[in-house]
Amino acid sequence: MGRNLGPVCRMCRREGIKLMLKGSRCESAKCPMEKPSRNAPPGAGRAFRRGTASEYGKRLRETQKVKRYYGLWDKQFRRYFDRAQHSSENTGTALLGLLERRLDNVVCKLGFAPSRKAARIAIGHKHFTVNGQPVNKPGYLVKVGDRIAVHKRERSQKLVRSMVDADANRAIQPWLKLDAARLEATVEALPGRDDVQIPVEEQLVIEFCSR
Ligand code: SF4
Repeated sequence: MGRNLGPVCRMCRREGIKLMLKGSRCESAKCPMEKPSRNAPPGAGRAFRRGTASEYGKRLRETQKVKRYYGLWDKQFRRYFDRAQHSSENTGTALLGLLERRLDNVVCKLGFAPSRKAARIAIGHKHFTVNGQPVNKPGYLVKVGDRIAVHKRERSQKLVRSMVDADANRAIQPWLKLDAARLEATVEALPGRDDVQIPVEEQLVIEFCSR
């Protein structure tokens, strides 16, 4: 699996929104997107200006925004799109629903990891279990009734406990139920369109992927 080693904040500047890729830094004044002098799109001479994109460019940017937010490569994203196309739901809603159900996204939303990237690493190190079984696949799709917990070993408990305690007032999404004392959560329902926090026009993504 490849890794994106490039500057992370550059992606937010390119997409023009906060993709929340760096944990607590994203909510601090250090975030470049909070500074008018630094939140312009990257590029020599800042030649690429927002608002001048072609129809193709708009669809491309919308698709890139989703891929970057969830930390996916083209091939992975294409698989989710193919699966969403075969769903009985609206393709855009089904696509976003699938992405929201990824274990790395869920771990991040529960406050068990500061970002999706950190969540992916922690999952790879088997710090989490689903229904009592260690899972090391960040792309595992959670289902209704799944119980996501921090591994019982001390190292895992310490790591996650410090993060949960530091962000005790975090708002948890309604489709997840967190038991912070036990470092466990249950999936109460599947995520709906309103649970997607990134502003995205999924129709443009569908049009881009259907070319
Ligand atoms: Fe960087 Fe996070 Fe701000 Fe994006 S939201 S620019 S990743 S600090």
